Amino acid sequence: MFDPQVDNQKTKMPYKDPLKQREYEIIWHRNKRLAVKIAVVKLLGNKCAICGYNDNIRALQIDHIEPILRGSNIVKWEDVGTNLQLKILRGKVPKGDYQVLCANCHAIKTFEVDRKKFKQSSEYGAVDSALALGA
Ligand SMILES: [Zn+2]
Repeated sequence: MFDPQVDNQKTKMPYKDPLKQREYEIIWHRNKRLAVKIAVVKLLGNKCAICGYNDNIRALQIDHIEPILRGSNIVKWEDVGTNLQLKILRGKVPKGDYQVLCANCHAIKTFEVDRKKFKQSSEYGAVDSALALGA
């Protein structure tokens, strides 16, 4: 079984046909990313921290509990996606800074964070007026 913490071996099989080789590599990387995600989701509680959803791993996402404020901070490539998940698994960042959220809860949280940020700018006053109307 794939262990993301120790697996660094080249497990790719060489194909003579470059198209077959490319297809093999794409599938290999896809499976590797999924294995990393399964491991980190398990480590962080295996379900959405808000609503408890855990039916399909594809709808579960890793959330920075303290949000990265888009626009004000530069998000580095190693702090998102599989690279971030590997850092969590390897203990290079405190796992307590992250949680599992389902796509719905994550979208709602992100929206609320953005709304708070928008509130600080009078330019976005119209957003809150629209929300007050239930738009
Ligand atoms: Zn949820």
